[in-house]
Amino acid sequence: MNRFFMAIIGGGPAGYTAAEKASKAGKDVVLFEQNAVGGTCLNVGCIPTKSLLYGAKQYYNATHVTKYGVTAENVSFDFGAMQKRKTIVVRKLVAGIKQRLNNEHCTLVSGAASVISRTDELVTISCNGETYEAQNLLICTGSTNFVPPIPGIKDNPAVWDSTDALAATDLPKSIIIVGGGVIGMEFATLYHELGVPVTVIEAMPTILPNLDQEVVSVLLEKYKKAGINILTSTKVESIDGNEVSISSPSLQGGDGGRLVAERILVSVGRRANLQGLEALNDLELNRGAIVIDDFCKTNLPNVFAAGDVTGKIMLAHVAARQAEVCIGRLLKQIPLQRIAYNAIPSVVYTNPEIASVGITEQQAESMSIPTEVRKLPMTFSGRFMAENEGETGLCKMVVDAKNHSVLGVHMIGNPCSEFIAAASFAVRMGYTTAEFEQVVFPHPTVSEILHEIL
Ligand code: NAD
Repeated sequence: MNRFFMAIIGGGPAGYTAAEKASKAGKDVVLFEQNAVGGTCLNVGCIPTKSLLYGAKQYYNATHVTKYGVTAENVSFDFGAMQKRKTIVVRKLVAGIKQRLNNEHCTLVSGAASVISRTDELVTISCNGETYEAQNLLICTGSTNFVPPIPGIKDNPAVWDSTDALAATDLPKSIIIVGGGVIGMEFATLYHELGVPVTVIEAMPTILPNLDQEVVSVLLEKYKKAGINILTSTKVESIDGNEVSISSPSLQGGDGGRLVAERILVSVGRRANLQGLEALNDLELNRGAIVIDDFCKTNLPNVFAAGDVTGKIMLAHVAARQAEVCIGRLLKQIPLQRIAYNAIPSVVYTNPEIASVGITEQQAESMSIPTEVRKLPMTFSGRFMAENEGETGLCKMVVDAKNHSVLGVHMIGNPCSEFIAAASFAVRMGYTTAEFEQVVFPHPTVSEILHEIL
C-alpha cells in the first residue's frame, strides 16, 4: 500500500503545478495522468494550436508582404511539416514538465485513477489495479469537448472536435465551424490563413459574445472583408454527412438553408470531466462543475479542486494559479491570498489578436457601475504604425467614474497578448489612472498605448 500527503488526479496545468509545488516543499505526492502530462493545454489545446497558428501567420504574412515594400514569389507551405514541428514543440514541453516533477517526493503514475472511498482522514484511489492512500485529494481532471444534441453529429466522420482538427494530417478543402467562441475563431484564423474556405455558425447575435463588442467588431469587419463567412444568430438544426441544415433570420424566405463543407468542426464549449469521481457522491456540484471556495476547497474537508473541473474560468493560467493558492494555503505558505478572478487576462489568438482583462463596458453597464470609458486606436503607438500596415486596432480602458481605478482593458492589435499583463497588474492592484500613469513603458513599443490612453 502506498500512502501520500496528497493524491492529485490529472496532470494538466493545475495538477502539475500543484504536484511540483507540494513535492518541492517536501510533501509526498502522487500524480495520476491517463494521457500525457501537460493536459489539454499542452497536448491538444493552447500549445499545438499556437504552433500551427504561428506557421499559418508566417505564410499569411509572406503572401501579404508587398505593403512593406517586399516581394516574395512562389510562397508555399507544407502542412505536414507544420504538424511535425507542432509535435516536436509539444514533445519538448512535455519532457520539460516531466523533468520538473522528477524529485524524490513526487510519484507520477500513468493511468486512469478512480476514487474508491473517502473519510475525513483518508482518500483511497485505484489505478492500474494498485491502491493508493492519501490524506488529501486534489481533483484536476479538466474538461472535455461538449457535444451538443444536434441530430447527425454523433459518430459522423465528417464532424471534428478541436482534438481531431489538431491531429489531422491533411488540411480540409473547406470547413464549417459551429461555435464562434474562442476555439472557433482561432481555428477560423488558422484555416483562413492557409487558404481554406471557412464558414462560422454562431447561435448568439455576435461571435466571441463574452468580449468587448466594439473590439470584436474590428475583427468581424476584417474577417468578413477577407472572405470568412460568419453567420450569427444562426442555429444548426441537423447534420447529415457533410451537409449542415441551418435556420437563420438573415436567410431568405424565413429561414432554412443548407451548407456543405468537407469538415464540420464543432466548438461550442467544454464541460467539467468528473470521470473516476463517482464514489464522491457528496461532492457539491454546480451545473456539472465542482464547487470550490477561494482556496480551492470543496465541501468535503480533505478534497480540493482546481482547473477546468471547477468551471470557474477555463484557462490554463487560472488553473495554475488555483493550484498555487490551494497548495500555498494548505502548506500555510500564503495564508491570506485569494485568487483575483477580477484580474485574469485572456487572449484570443486571431489575427490581429485580442487581449483583455477585467470588466467590459457592457458588463459595467449591466452591473450599474458608473464608468468612464477611454478609447484610442492602436495607431497612437509609433511601433504599431511601423509594423501593422493597414490596421487601426483599438484599445479601450474602463475606469471607475468615482474613484478612477482601472476596471478593465480591452485591446485588438498585434501583439497585445504580450503586454496585457501590465494592464492585469493595474487591475489586480486597484491602480487609479494617476497611479498607472507613473509606470514607464519602453519606447518604441506597442505597450505604450496603455500610457497614451491614460
Ligand atoms: P466558448 O464558450 O468560448 O464558445 C462557444 C461558442 O459556441 C459560444 O459563442 C456559443 O454562443 C456558441 N454556441 C453554443 N452552442 C451553439 C450551437 N449549437 N450552435 C452555434 N453556436 C453555439 O467555448 P470554446 O470556444 O469551445 O472554448 C472552450 C473553452 O476553452 C473556453 O472556456 C475558452 O476560454 C477556452 N479556450 C481558451 C483559449 C485561449 O485562451 N486562447 C483557446 C481555446 C480555448
